[in-house]
Amino acid sequence: MAAIIIFAILIVIVVLALVIAEANRKKRARCKECNTKYDYDNDVSWSVVQEIEEQNCIKSVVDITCVCHNCGAEKKYTRTFKTAERNTNTGVVTRRNIYDLLKKEFK
Ligand SMILES: [Zn+2]
Repeated sequence: MAAIIIFAILIVIVVLALVIAEANRKKRARCKECNTKYDYDNDVSWSVVQEIEEQNCIKSVVDITCVCHNCGAEKKYTRTFKTAERNTNTGVVTRRNIYDLLKKEFK
């Protein structure tokens, strides 16, 4: 019985974390001045400022600049994405496209 309760609590925590993460993403995708949703291809620019190599992956630190097409307000922030993974058996590195990773942020 106790195990079921602990399991249920864990599920609630995971669901809450996902809901909060999604709410934060939606907030980042909008202008904080006028609440206009950013147009990814026109309003958002980014550049990789650092690559951190860990055991089996590479993380890219990306500076993101959003300029609102409605009010002109600028927002800058930095995010870290896992952009490459090394297959531990073959040693082959698979890279992810940062353009596509970021596009999901602004969907
Ligand atoms: Zn705006």
